[in-house]
Amino acid sequence: SIVVLGSTNMDLVAYVPRAPALGETVTGRSFRTIPGGKGANQAVAAARAGAEVAMIGAIGTDGFGAQLRATLEHCAVDTDLLRTVEGPSGTAHIVVDDEGGNAIVVVPGANGTVTSLTHGDEALIGTADTLLLQLELPLPVVVEGAATARRLGVRTVLTPSPAQPLPPELLAATDLLVPNEHEAAALTGLADPRAAAEALLRDVPEVVITLGAAGSLYAARGAEPVAVPAPRVRAVDTTGAGDTFVGALAVALGEGRPAPEALAWAQTAAALSVRREGASTSMPYRVDIEAAFRS
Ligand code: ADP
Repeated sequence: SIVVLGSTNMDLVAYVPRAPALGETVTGRSFRTIPGGKGANQAVAAARAGAEVAMIGAIGTDGFGAQLRATLEHCAVDTDLLRTVEGPSGTAHIVVDDEGGNAIVVVPGANGTVTSLTHGDEALIGTADTLLLQLELPLPVVVEGAATARRLGVRTVLTPSPAQPLPPELLAATDLLVPNEHEAAALTGLADPRAAAEALLRDVPEVVITLGAAGSLYAARGAEPVAVPAPRVRAVDTTGAGDTFVGALAVALGEGRPAPEALAWAQTAAALSVRREGASTSMPYRVDIEAAFRS
């Protein structure tokens, strides 16, 4: 099974002809609320890809919190250890203009209250084969989660997003690091993915760098890197592609598939998701991934 230690956010998205400057008001075309947060997105992706998934994190006591919990439960994600804390849920305030450009303000809200693990959290992590981590919770709890998983023999998969310098103790407890190419460049100062992967292998045993429509690159210590091309699809909305990829990758690796095949399977899932609008709402189910993977 998979445990996710991560964020839940409500994305509040306004579609506008052009973004307002400071002090200016513009009239938007439309508005949507979309359940998100990298943690919750990866949990939904992994559940739809066929794993048993539980989520550790926090929602607020506002209406968004109830919606976020309900969305996870609807996707069969276990939320018993998702705390409800007094105050607002995490929100992402997103403005999307007609060119598809965006400006985003993230307010962590309840996510910011998750600063350490409970005994229940530790026990849950101990039952999993994989712990998925991102950087949208306070860094100390991410470090604690990774270290706990490492101690208990649970595989740790870290998505280093939003990009920031990683403390050595976090890298030391990471089995698989999955940056996109921008994050890989930010972490290493190297724009070339192969060079970045090689540099990252000094800190972690396995790296996957996602390359958008170009697919992904797998690198492990002592082996030649493997580039896996992505299926060619007409992309409608790539929001959440990376989270779909990571969720599905964790499922495939947990089933014992060899890395190159697991990457190809995860890319099949991610490609299906970019063909539809939305992040979690566009994530494919296992039957659809399998059908597309075989064809
Ligand atoms: P992020 O969403 O974190 O920025 P990427 O853009 O690298 O990450 O996308 C993650 C994965 O999603 C890629 O490795 C690829 O498999 C898939 N993907 C993203 N965009 C496309 C696309 N236009 N066509 C096919 N697959 C895509």
